Amino acid sequence: MRFEVSKVLDAIEGRLSIDPALARAVVDLSEIVRYADLDGGRPASSVRLGLVVDALSRHVAEENAPVYVVCPRGLLSDTDLTSNERMVIRRWADDGKVEVVPQLDDRVYEVAELLGVPVLTRARGDQVRDRRPWVDEPGRLLAAVAGEGGGAVLMARVGRGEPPRPAERSQLGERLLARVWRCPESNCSSFGQGGDPDSPFSDMRTFTSPVAQPPPALRSGVPTCPRHGSKLKDAGARPPVEVLSVRIDGVIRQRFVVSADAPVVVGRAPEGGKGIMLGQWLTEDARKWISRGHVQFELRGNGELTAQDVSTNGSGIRPGGSTDDDERITLKRGETRSLGATDVVELYAGVNVGRSKMWATGGLVQPQSVMAEAPTMALRKFTG
Ligand SMILES: [Zn+2]
Repeated sequence: MRFEVSKVLDAIEGRLSIDPALARAVVDLSEIVRYADLDGGRPASSVRLGLVVDALSRHVAEENAPVYVVCPRGLLSDTDLTSNERMVIRRWADDGKVEVVPQLDDRVYEVAELLGVPVLTRARGDQVRDRRPWVDEPGRLLAAVAGEGGGAVLMARVGRGEPPRPAERSQLGERLLARVWRCPESNCSSFGQGGDPDSPFSDMRTFTSPVAQPPPALRSGVPTCPRHGSKLKDAGARPPVEVLSVRIDGVIRQRFVVSADAPVVVGRAPEGGKGIMLGQWLTEDARKWISRGHVQFELRGNGELTAQDVSTNGSGIRPGGSTDDDERITLKRGETRSLGATDVVELYAGVNVGRSKMWATGGLVQPQSVMAEAPTMALRKFTG
């Protein structure tokens, strides 16, 4: 059973991100692990995060919707969790997959406000309403509750039944996320490399890329490291990013970030395991047509997004996402074109990549579950 739990935690790990461009909701891990009513199991279980992650994917109708997890430090020594679970969460923290904070304060709400994403919580917002009046807006607080068919579903406290609101950062969030921040602590995974560069361990650590840094915490208006409480140093402008989505037969399968210094290759199975691999979602015909690396996306310093065909068979561009074949522009092998705001690159019929804001809904009825390997205990309610 421990083995199965580990597999679930591995699957959950793939859905964790504190990257402001990718996170779709924010949670307090210490709250989620105690939702014993979801599976009738132990007082605390990290597997419940998987139920909530699945509920989020269904809510936004997308595959792979990442969640921003805030973990109060106390949870790392909470003996209601198994030692294996505590070890996994500590590793997630060290790898910058979750954010550990000494005290929760209202960090979860701060992140939600700065990024413009919902909070997944059963709290009613009473404690934060004075400071965060938006908690009373539709869809900003979503409670994970037991679903009828098992698992969890997200219920909005306000405006129930409305479609999820598109994310919109606060102005303050835009300003903070336009800069790169440095923490003076040498072991800071989120705002790293601000410590002693001569330390023998300085190149052994993994640091979050500057373009993927989480939002700073604000203490009396001063940007502060949420983990260390240290004042952050402004290290210059953050390179611009563009968030793109892979959409196959009307379904959003994955979002990814292209930044000015990091082109991304999309294809059947890009070389070296880098890039965006589509193979698992393609029909046999599409697999034959689409090259291992098919299109390379690049963001230039001036904000221009380009697509370069790197395939054997070529690609196409559909201006404004047009489905009219007469408007389709052929992108020949090796050719590069600039992409307009609503242009969609077509790797094969129905296999598209475009800016994420092009598509309001993910279009997916039954996203893949991270709970596939769940032990029978957690599955009881799915099947019962
Ligand atoms: Zn720090």
